[in-house]
Amino acid sequence: MADTGRMYIDGEWRDAADGATREVRCPADGSLVATVAEGSESDALDAVRAARRAFDDGPWPHTPSPERAALLHRLADRLVAEKEQVARLESLDTGKRLVESRIDVDDVVGVFRHYAGLAQADAGRMVDTGMPDVVSRVVHEPVGVCSLITPWNFPLLQTSWKVAPALAAGCTFVLKPSELTPSTAVWLVEALTAEGLPAGVANLVLGAGDRVGPALTEAPEVDLVSFTGGLVTGRRIMAAAAPTVKRVALELGGKNPNVVFADADLEAAIDNALTAIFLDSGQVCSAGARLIVEDSVHDEVVDELVRRAGRIRLGGPFDERAETGPLISARHREKVEAYVAAGIAEGAVLRAGGERPTGEGWDDGFYYPPTILDDCSADMSCVQDESFGPVLTVETFTGEDAEALEQAAVSLANDTIYGLAGAVWTRDAGRAERVAARLRHGTVWINDYHPYVPQAEWGGYKQSGVGRELGLAGLAEYRETKHVWHNTRPAPAGWFRDGAAE
Ligand code: NAD
Repeated sequence: MADTGRMYIDGEWRDAADGATREVRCPADGSLVATVAEGSESDALDAVRAARRAFDDGPWPHTPSPERAALLHRLADRLVAEKEQVARLESLDTGKRLVESRIDVDDVVGVFRHYAGLAQADAGRMVDTGMPDVVSRVVHEPVGVCSLITPWNFPLLQTSWKVAPALAAGCTFVLKPSELTPSTAVWLVEALTAEGLPAGVANLVLGAGDRVGPALTEAPEVDLVSFTGGLVTGRRIMAAAAPTVKRVALELGGKNPNVVFADADLEAAIDNALTAIFLDSGQVCSAGARLIVEDSVHDEVVDELVRRAGRIRLGGPFDERAETGPLISARHREKVEAYVAAGIAEGAVLRAGGERPTGEGWDDGFYYPPTILDDCSADMSCVQDESFGPVLTVETFTGEDAEALEQAAVSLANDTIYGLAGAVWTRDAGRAERVAARLRHGTVWINDYHPYVPQAEWGGYKQSGVGRELGLAGLAEYRETKHVWHNTRPAPAGWFRDGAAE
């Protein structure tokens, strides 16, 4: 276990310039996980400049793509070999169950292999100009220096969605993980270095967003900011990047609808509705936080959800009987509590959970139970705002005919500022396709919830984000496109006639 996490800048492990440190504590029981460097603006600027030098003068952007791919594969191999150690680090930082962290590590391996496979993909194309003496081609080049800023809920996974394509494309970067969960980022940068990544390509800055964030998002040396996190921070980052017109990729929050029609396989829909919202205690950007259920099956569906939610077992990362874990921090739990209180004040009916467990074994961790708010409507803040906790809101819809019914469901499902993900449950394939086509969300599941693969793009419509990660587009974010025009038979243009017009 890393007990001292330092920053990695220009090929050297460093303490913060001002010596500041931060204690990382496990949200399940408050135990000390690590004492890490707490960087400041000067550390962040050092890292940005190192990444700039490595991009402008170093070998990485020009390293042949098979070599870049080979490094990504070696990183994946190392992760397979060190899976248990990395999963434990992730669980200690986040409090999430070890089984979930192991799944996350497997996913990270898949992400690195996906981008290793793509490193040589889509090298560019010839353009037919119709002119026999001209060779014209469009090529892709690395975008440059990237600031990669990540959240605490899937620390290494969200990081891999950025680091793997950045390296595949030939970029250099400064990685800034969440100050709450830095341990696996330290592991990743150590591993990349051990696998031979040249100095200055990967830089790691640790610290609070308001201390190191401005330098990473404003410095003119940075070409692209890729950020995953909350909407408010995303807006701030977009504004910070605007004066220097950086490329900006944002993966923000969601308020994701899970639409259940009466003709669905209700057993499957109910079970998946629990996973949709209560997995990882709802701290999932794509969590199915809004159940939108056809009125005629509301009681059947919600009564069963309430019954089963009450039986979900909370516990720490190494409690093998636990089914979900704590929230990330005391502050986050207070936010979730305030959100539930506001929902009740606005008229929602509390059907499950709603009170933190107390007493022996519970008081040191930030636990909050699976909670269901029934009788909700689109004008309530609990329906519009992301709680990022284990809170499900329930709305119903009806319609006089099939078209009106589908229209009612779609209207509710699209009625927030977000558009990250959503699901529709029905046995009617035509209805499934019609509804899926009208959901304004970046991912739509039909009769399923949560699965994703690195081969498919991930990202948000509306205020859930800008750009896409994963898939092919996830690599394109880290590439510039250049048109090269080569006249093989140079001749005077003859436009200006050297006085002949006088
Ligand atoms: P956050 O916005 O508080 O922090 C995210 C990161 O930004 C952290 O590393 C933080 O230190 C940094 N940061 C904070 N202020 C900054 C600033 N001014 N400049 C630069 N960096 C700054 O988010 P969080 O609480 O860590 O994560 C939860 C949020 O992330 C949720 O809203 C969730 O929906 C979202 N999320 C989205 C996705 C997705 O794929 N769309 C995935 C995971 C999480």
